[in-house]
Amino acid sequence: MTCKQVVGDLMLPKVSAKGNLSEIYLSLQGEGIWVGIPMVFVRTTGCYRRCRYCDTEFALVAEKRARIWLGWRRGEPELIVDNPVTAQQVAEWVLQASGQGNLANWVSFTGGEPLLQAEFLAELGAMLKRLGFRILLETEGGLPDRLEKVLPFVNAVAADIKLPSTTGEPLNWNEAERFLRMVAEAPVQACVKIVVTADIDEGEFERAVELLAQLQTSQSGFRRFCPMALILQPVTPARFVTETPSMKLLLHLVSLAQQKLVDVRIVPQVHKLVQLP
Ligand code: SF4
Repeated sequence: MTCKQVVGDLMLPKVSAKGNLSEIYLSLQGEGIWVGIPMVFVRTTGCYRRCRYCDTEFALVAEKRARIWLGWRRGEPELIVDNPVTAQQVAEWVLQASGQGNLANWVSFTGGEPLLQAEFLAELGAMLKRLGFRILLETEGGLPDRLEKVLPFVNAVAADIKLPSTTGEPLNWNEAERFLRMVAEAPVQACVKIVVTADIDEGEFERAVELLAQLQTSQSGFRRFCPMALILQPVTPARFVTETPSMKLLLHLVSLAQQKLVDVRIVPQVHKLVQLP
């Protein structure tokens, strides 16, 4: 089945799950190992974290309405709709925004924290996969029980390790490890992202690298030949963060991580450099 087939052709469930969205639009992926790929972004609304550097503050609390661009995001949205919306409606908007799959064949589930609406995304993911889309889940990486529901329906995962010194919030290291182990053992493309602030704690960073190193050595099968890349993302000033980390600090962290990991990269938020949403 290809993206060109209409949603009505699908064997859709009689009752479609509902979710709360912030926005849908077509743009280029600007983060991680998928930089430059055209994607339809499905941004859910709501997050249980309050990172100091959050750049989607508007999506932290439940929004009453969602903005829908049925293509590249330019000017005002074509639709403004009341939440909640059904998975079937979202699949139809994704098809339109993607030019029936001709402009983009990837969909990003992002937020807010998308896994707060795991059942909804599992149903939407199943529909979109049947339409021929590939799905990237972008998550803060702290909700392994909810990940379990969505993981079968995604092709790729970008998971953060939210270091307390950078977010200003505590991190449950056990849950983060459980989450990353589930990703590492799944047949999906994957990378791990650490946002780097000027005041990052080196001890926390080394603990995260050690966690990833243990995952790396315990992996078998395809993951052994395709290890998860560690992405160091210099913070883009937002919310309570005004300072960016120096290149000297970034290169120092890369050299630390490279002692234990095979794939370490510095990737800024490229979409912001080229002024895309
Ligand atoms: S997890 Fe993401 S959406 Fe939530 S507060 Fe942090 S940066 Fe913002």
